[in-house]
This record gives sequence, structure tokens and C-alpha cells, in this order.
Amino acid sequence: MTTYLSGIQPSGRPHLGNYFGAIREHVRLQDRGGECFYFIADYHALTTSRDPARLREAVRDVALTYLALGLDPGRVALFRQSDVKEVTEIAWLLASVTGIGLLERAHSYKDKLARGIKPNVGLFTYPVLMAADILAYDTDYVPVGRDQVQHVEMAQDMAQSFNALFGEVFRRPEALMPAETLAKVPGVDGEKMSKSYGNDIWIFESGKALQAAIGRIKTDSRPPEEPKDPDGVLLFRFLELFLEPAELAGWRERARAGGAGAPGYGHMKKRLVEAVEEHFAPARARREALLADPSGVDRVLERGAKKARERAVAVAGRALEACGLR
Ligand code: ATP
Ligand code: MG
Repeated sequence: MTTYLSGIQPSGRPHLGNYFGAIREHVRLQDRGGECFYFIADYHALTTSRDPARLREAVRDVALTYLALGLDPGRVALFRQSDVKEVTEIAWLLASVTGIGLLERAHSYKDKLARGIKPNVGLFTYPVLMAADILAYDTDYVPVGRDQVQHVEMAQDMAQSFNALFGEVFRRPEALMPAETLAKVPGVDGEKMSKSYGNDIWIFESGKALQAAIGRIKTDSRPPEEPKDPDGVLLFRFLELFLEPAELAGWRERARAGGAGAPGYGHMKKRLVEAVEEHFAPARARREALLADPSGVDRVLERGAKKARERAVAVAGRALEACGLR
């Protein structure tokens, strides 16, 4: 049976990039007949989190988000990363066969440094822990956004290093990425949307707060009548995520033509607010209902952890034996 595995950090509230690049794909995969393991990466989040109450809250929020967006916990294991201790054990085994140079080349690490984030050892070794997450479940496919593809490749490298030394222990995983427009959703500043960059839009934002969030999408001072290449207008990157192709084509054409009939940025933002509200309305309602039963989320996470642990215990056992620790 094909195994899919992915994770999301409880480092803030899940945003539109997480949705289009990952969560929506994860929910769709549950219908493919394989096995799905999705974890909430709390060990990873600890590399930046310093607020215990907030971290706990964020873990629940990620779980609620998945459930509201249609994840079926009867078919999918949704669990907390830290509920599977074997992952940290496998991470140590992998760290012991991984060169420092490999980690120094990680884009996401370099991006975070460039943003002025002071790195700790955990942030540096993040790809090792992520490789352990992937390899612990005999994963075939890892559905992720563009930014995580390099980490999956590193997991391939680490699996290969370990297998070359100790025999065929780890299965080789492959990244599974959606179309490029979905795999790298921009933030309001035009850079990759990220929870930790302050440029994100929460999936369930609505009303005035949504208007404010969309109001922050960067525009320029060109007047509506000036003809514009829609590909050079950040707002179109957002509109194309939500509008039907025929409607989108109309907006693009009018922007390109310019003149009296051309839309201004304010007009486009207004349409985007409506489209986001509408797109997530059913999920928002489900989320409200789920909020009323907090213990329901706990049960889902416990059940997921049990299933994940079974698999990881078997894989860790194989790895420990192969390298001589057992
Ligand atoms: P952080 O800033 O804390 O790293 P993040 O916003 O990058 O948070 P992650 O939890 O690291 O989110 O990533 C969860 C999933 O969402 C991953 O599969 C990742 O590839 C995907 N993802 C994150 N940001 C985007 C984006 N802007 N566009 C598409 N997919 C994204
Ligand atoms: Mg990230």
C-alpha cells in the first residue's frame, strides 16, 4: 500500500499558502486508497516557540484546521510529532551518518538567517529531524509545497547514506508537489507566505480582519487606467487561487487593456475578500462546530498517534538492529 506522509508546524495559524500548497492536497489524498500520516510538527516548532500556552493552542488549532477542511480521522492518522518518540531516535541515527555540509546548504535555514532569525542547533538540524519524520513511516510520497522539496531530497540522501552503510533499512521517499502556482503562494509582501514572516493571511480570517489582511497586499501607485501586465501584479497571484478561469480571464483582460473599464487595485481587493469569504464559508462553519467539543480533537490525536507509533516502532527497530545498537 502506498504511504503518504506530511507535516505542518504549529508555529502560528495555518495560512493560504499552507492550504493550497499542502492541506488541501493532504485532504484529497485520503481518497486515493493509500495510507496517510499527517503530523503536527511540535518538535520543529520548538526551535522558535518560547510560549508554552501558545504552542499548545497552536497544536490544537492545526488539528482543528485539518478537520474543518475535511480530513477524515477515521481514514487518516493525524497526530502530534512528539507523540512518536522513535522519531528523535531515528534522527540521531541519521545525524550520525550526515555531513554538516548537507545541512549548511538548506535553503530554508539560509532564508531564516537572512531574515535575522537567530539560529539555534535545533533550527540547523531541522532537516535531520524532518528526514526522520519521513523515513519513520516507510513513506512513499511526501506531499509538500515548493519550499520543502529540498528537505525531502535531503531525506533521500540520508536514507541512502544509512542504507549504504548498514543495508536496506529505509524506503526512498519522493516529494509530491501541486502545480507551481499552488506550491509557492506569495505573502502580502510578494515573498513566500510564511507563518514566521508576518506576511501571511489566516485561512479562516473573515470580515474586517480579512479586509485588513487583504488590504496589506502590496500594490503600486499606477492608476487604474494605465494598462498593466497582469503577471506583474501581485494581486492576480491571489485572484487566480480563488476565481473561476472565465472570471479571472475577464479581470486580466481589463487590466491589460487599461482605460476607463479597467479595475483599480481597491476593486480587485474587494472581489478577493468576497471570494475568500465564500471559499472557506463551509469550513469556517465546521470549525465553529468543532470548537464546541475540545475533547474530540484530543481523541483524534490519540488515535492517530497510536497508529503512527506502531509503524515507527517497527522501522526504528529495523534501524537499531542494522547499525548494531540492538
Ligand atoms: P514557518 O514559517 O514556521 O516555517 P510555514 O508557513 O513555512 O511556517 P510550514 O509549517 O513550515 O509553514 O509548512 C507546512 C506545509 O505548507 C509544507 O508542506 C510547506 O511546503 C507548505 N507551505 C508553506 N508555505 C507555503 C506557501 N507559501 N505556498 C505553498 N505551500 C506552502
Ligand atoms: Mg516552513
